[in-house]
Amino acid sequence: MGITRKVLNWYARIGPSHGKVSPPYEHVVQIGDPILRKASEAVPVDQIKTEEIQKLIKKLHYVLDKYGSLGMSAPQVGVNKRIFVMRHTAKQIAALPKEIEKSRGMTVVPFSVFINPKLKVIDYNKVTMSEGCESVQGYIAEVARYRAVEISGLNAEGNSTSTQFKDWAARIAQHEMDHLDGKLYTDIMDRKTLQCTCWEEVNMAKGKVVIPFYPD
Ligand SMILES: [Zn+2]
Repeated sequence: MGITRKVLNWYARIGPSHGKVSPPYEHVVQIGDPILRKASEAVPVDQIKTEEIQKLIKKLHYVLDKYGSLGMSAPQVGVNKRIFVMRHTAKQIAALPKEIEKSRGMTVVPFSVFINPKLKVIDYNKVTMSEGCESVQGYIAEVARYRAVEISGLNAEGNSTSTQFKDWAARIAQHEMDHLDGKLYTDIMDRKTLQCTCWEEVNMAKGKVVIPFYPD
């Protein structure tokens, strides 16, 4: 980190805009933020329909859309509540090469909200694939995950919901469940496979590349 960057970071922390942003955020917090390491609290059932929780769900949906992510958990927007959302659209899948769609077993997942979710492993066989996280921007690594899981919990209306996920969708669900327990994929990754997603660009641009912490 150069001195200019250090000064800018310092200014960002203590500058005039500091303290004006409060959770739930419209950005995704990054690794190092203590909130990502806390176990989240269960949401009392009678609070699901409150404005606070409904706003949090809307904010998760908003941030999921804004970043074009497949999953988003409440701690990632600065709130330690056991809620995550996930979704994989046909459009997102169609934008990828067919081989990737096939090898990763990608399937459409409608927008889903899980409150106080529980995970049950359906298929204990583990699959190792490359995985990233919006809270570890700019990096990916190989992570082993169960092939199929069932997530049960409550939906945004407070009704019981249960879904079985396979392959890529099962990976998303396991990744988001981990967030609710203060875990990140970097805890369980194959450490030698950790890579910067733009390492080739760094060489091509003679090092003049920045990792974006905000979607385009
Ligand atoms: Zn994540």
